[in-house]
Amino acid sequence: MLALTILGSNSAIAAFGRNPTSQLLQTNEDFLLIDCGEGTQMQMSKFKVKKSKINHIFISHLHGDHYFGLVGLISSMALQNRSNDLHLYAPPPLKDIIDLQLKVADATLPFNLLFHGLGEDGVIADLPTLTVSSFKVCHRIDCWGFKFKEKTNLRSIVPARAKAYEIPPDFYSRLQSGEDYVNAKGTIIPNDQVTVEGPHASQYAYCADTKFHKSIVECVKNSDLIYYETTYLKDRQELAESRYHSTTVDAASVAKAAKAGKLIIGHFSSKYEQLENFLTETKEIFTNTELAIEGTCFKI
Ligand SMILES: [Zn+2]
Ligand SMILES: [Zn+2]
Repeated sequence: MLALTILGSNSAIAAFGRNPTSQLLQTNEDFLLIDCGEGTQMQMSKFKVKKSKINHIFISHLHGDHYFGLVGLISSMALQNRSNDLHLYAPPPLKDIIDLQLKVADATLPFNLLFHGLGEDGVIADLPTLTVSSFKVCHRIDCWGFKFKEKTNLRSIVPARAKAYEIPPDFYSRLQSGEDYVNAKGTIIPNDQVTVEGPHASQYAYCADTKFHKSIVECVKNSDLIYYETTYLKDRQELAESRYHSTTVDAASVAKAAKAGKLIIGHFSSKYEQLENFLTETKEIFTNTELAIEGTCFKI
């Protein structure tokens, strides 16, 4: 199971108690940070997220509301004597920005910061519990979305049946991989006699700043959960497109066409104090929608 905690939900300017974009995605083994707007480490303290547990950070693009909190976070990790490797997946120019900031401060990090530049669509990280892919979205500057797919392709053993066929426990991992068992007499025990289909592999798709583009639908198809930006309500469709952002109608249309399980909307413009209309408009097209309220944890 995946767990997604919203740390920041607003667009460029923090307003009405809402902060720029950041999210934490957890599995049983991995802690991943997605975007890191200004104030993200304060949000982590508020929601009791341990910085030391984060080993992978994904930055969608180089507008400040998605990464201005990053150098501060990295500096705090250094001051706390972090020693574990930190993997950073981001647009290539971010490496120069970080290097310059460390250089002018005469600072060296006590841990390895391993930089992975984003480029072509495809798999960017193969983690113990997840496969992470990136895909280009349609923004004013280069911008990537991310898809996080759980690795749970193993079959589940039915212990009573495995015992009945006297299959030794040291063969169980091969049963989980789908192998048949051949006993001492040469009799084949078909795998489906002693196992059943394993747990569902959940998929989360994060669509960063973008205007509507039909290619995104294919990239996020059949996700259990999609996060999609809704900077504006539907009466500002033209403005949204001219600024390479989306409305409630765009987000709901993508979720519907992609056959998503659930949709979370965020990246709200600081013009809006109340968010009810975002939810109402989106639900008119895609019912299973929720607002990205900071501190909320979504189980996927
Ligand atoms: Zn933004
Ligand atoms: Zn942007």
